Amino acid sequence: MNNFVFWSPTKFVFGRDTESRTGALAREFGGRKVLLVYGGGSVVRSGLLDRVKASLSASGIEWEEMGGIQPNPTDDRVYEGIELVRSRNIDMLIAVGGGSVIDTAKGIACGVPYEGDFWDFYCGKKIVEKALPVGVVLTIPAAGSEGSGNSVITKRDGLIKLSLRTESALRPKFAVMNPELTFTLPPYQTACGIVDMMVHIMERYFTNTPDVEITDRVAEGVLIAIMEEAPKVMCDPENYEARANIMWSGTLAHNGVCGTGRAEDWSSHFIEHEISAIYNVAHGAGLAVVVPAWMQYVAGVNPVKVAQFARRVMGVVSQGDDKSVAAEGIKRLKDFFMSIGMPVTFKELGIDNPDIERLVAKLHEHKGERIGGYVKLSADDTIKIYEMMQ
Ligand code: NAP
Ligand code: FE
Repeated sequence: MNNFVFWSPTKFVFGRDTESRTGALAREFGGRKVLLVYGGGSVVRSGLLDRVKASLSASGIEWEEMGGIQPNPTDDRVYEGIELVRSRNIDMLIAVGGGSVIDTAKGIACGVPYEGDFWDFYCGKKIVEKALPVGVVLTIPAAGSEGSGNSVITKRDGLIKLSLRTESALRPKFAVMNPELTFTLPPYQTACGIVDMMVHIMERYFTNTPDVEITDRVAEGVLIAIMEEAPKVMCDPENYEARANIMWSGTLAHNGVCGTGRAEDWSSHFIEHEISAIYNVAHGAGLAVVVPAWMQYVAGVNPVKVAQFARRVMGVVSQGDDKSVAAEGIKRLKDFFMSIGMPVTFKELGIDNPDIERLVAKLHEHKGERIGGYVKLSADDTIKIYEMMQ
């Protein structure tokens, strides 16, 4: 096991009606005037935004608001938010929504105290040292941004989608998580979230670091729980217990607990980010297409961990060699994705003629000559992976 730092200081407040505690939480973490950031309207229609405002008022906290954040959020809204926060003396961001809203709030939070361009952090020119505090009221379990130090933003000029990873600066101070808020999710979004959280675990699970049994077992346990609860939320969207299990899984998948003591991979995310940057598809749906192809490719080079995944997570019982066990595990994973209505090819994702040359060129321009850790992939490899998705 490698040396590691595990830092997950977010205060998670989980359960029914917890959004009524937002004001008290904001106050606890020093907020006096907050910027409420939200998406395209689901939190307005559900009445959640009004309930959050009422909670802030009850705690004597003022607010301004910035709505209309779109999935795959872009840099223009971050610049707009930075200006707004600076001009109105706002001292805290509260994201009411999912990953796109939270990541925008995080971009604003690190951009405000920085004199230069906030994009410097995302393209790796600068390290975030200071940020305004961020709170979250989560409405979709998926990205895990409520418990991660990460943020993913797309620069509109050039469609460059990059993830910023910080150890502590951008971890939310608090996250309110009421599973009832997820009852209104369309099935497609629910399924996209399930795939994204599973892949957050897999990016950490596929490693060559030896002797990480405890982390492997935590990861396997969360993956199995997600696959057991997934059909329940798909069939019965108002099943509180199943929604609660899925919601907490999304946080555990990405707050670091599934990745302690090991090198991580992240090539599936990097391969996917190029797809959602250009074609603006949902990130989770993109991952459902990428991961089986990636796994099939790496199993051809190094089947050991893929076979372990097949046996321990996908329940493959076979006397065969690692390659055949891995192949059966990948087939079952694909079947699972299809069973929850996810695409597994470019065509099913709605992309008839993917520009693979452009995807590969952008990927390696942004992420270097080789990506990944479990198997290091050059452009010769990633082109084949994109081709396998057709
Ligand atoms: P999202 O993009 O925030 O939201 C997806 C859609 O779900 C939106 O159309 C939203 O509608 C709708 N929605 C959300 N909650 C709802 C509810 N309770 N009822 C009905 N509709 C609801 O989804 P996400 O998957 O959480 O975030 C995706 C982004 O996060 C991508 O850009 C991805 O690359 C990124 N990401 C970030 C991290 C990280 O660590 N920071 C990790 C993985 C992925 P409204 O807009 O109307 O609310
Ligand atoms: Fe993700």
